[in-house]
Amino acid sequence: MIKRIAAITLVLALGLGLGAAQQKPPLKVFISVDMEGISGIVHGDQTTPGTAEYANGCAWMVADVNAAVEGALAAGATEVVVNDSHGSMRNINPAQLDPRAILISGTPKPLSMMQGIDASFAACLLIGYHAKAGTADAILDHTISGSVVRAVRVNGVELPELGLNAAIAGYYGVPVVLVSGDTAVCRQAGEILGKDVVTVAVKEAFGRMAAKLVPMPEARQKLKAGAKEALGKAASARPYKLTAPHKFELEYHVSAQADMGAMIPGVKRVDARTLGFTADDYIQGFRTLRALIAIAPAR
Ligand SMILES: [Zn+2]
Repeated sequence: MIKRIAAITLVLALGLGLGAAQQKPPLKVFISVDMEGISGIVHGDQTTPGTAEYANGCAWMVADVNAAVEGALAAGATEVVVNDSHGSMRNINPAQLDPRAILISGTPKPLSMMQGIDASFAACLLIGYHAKAGTADAILDHTISGSVVRAVRVNGVELPELGLNAAIAGYYGVPVVLVSGDTAVCRQAGEILGKDVVTVAVKEAFGRMAAKLVPMPEARQKLKAGAKEALGKAASARPYKLTAPHKFELEYHVSAQADMGAMIPGVKRVDARTLGFTADDYIQGFRTLRALIAIAPAR
C-alpha cells in the first residue's frame, strides 16, 4: 500500500512537473507590416502591383517579416500574428511567410493596419513603417493616403501612422516595442513612443526616393536581434494610450477634399481644408477618420 501510494505520488509529481514545463506562459506577438520602410525599397514602383519591380518589393517585405518572426520566436513568442498592412494588403505571399506565423491578408479590415490585435497580445512590432506626410529625407513619406492627407492630429499632436496605430494597440493595453523603417521613422517613433522603443533603421534617406541601404543580410540580422531585444523587455513597456475625449483633426491637401466630409453631422469644418470631430472612444474616432479619408476625392 505504501509502495502504491509512493508510486502514485511519483506519477503525480512527474505529471505536474511535465505540465509546468509544457505550460509556457503565453507570449502572443502582433506584427503589422507596411512596405515603404522595408529593406531595399526607395520608390513607389517597388510597392505598387503591376510594375516590373513590385515582385522584388514583395520578396524583400516577406524577408524582413521573417527576420522579425525569427527574433520573436527566439524571445519565446508562443504565437505570432502578422498583418499585411500595405495597399491591397495582399503583398505577403503566404507560401513564403515563416510557417510558424499566422497571416492576416487582404482589405478592407475594420482596424486596417492593426486588424487582429486584441488584449491577449503581449506586444506589437511595426515593421517596414514610414515617416508622416511632410517629412524631409524620408522614403515615401505620407500619412494613410498620400493623395488625400496632409496631416492628422489627435489632441493637437500630429501623428504618423505609427502613432495612430500604436494608439490602437494602446487601446487594448498592448505596447509597441519595435519600429523598423528608415532613420526618419525611427526618429519619429522615439519622439512619440519614448526612448525605450527599439528601432531598427534599414536605410537612410537622401530625399523621398533615394536612400543609402543597410546591406540586406545585415538589415535582417538587425531586425531579428531587435525583435528579440524588444520582446525581452516587453513586460515593462508602457502601452501608448491617448486620453479621451479624442479631438481629431484631418487636414487635406486641398479644400475640395473636405467638402463631402463637412456635410456629416458631428464633423465640423476647422478651416477650408481641415475637418475636426471629437470621439470619446478612440477606435470609433479612428473609424471616422478612415471614412473621412475614403470619401475624399484624390487630389
Ligand atoms: Zn504602405
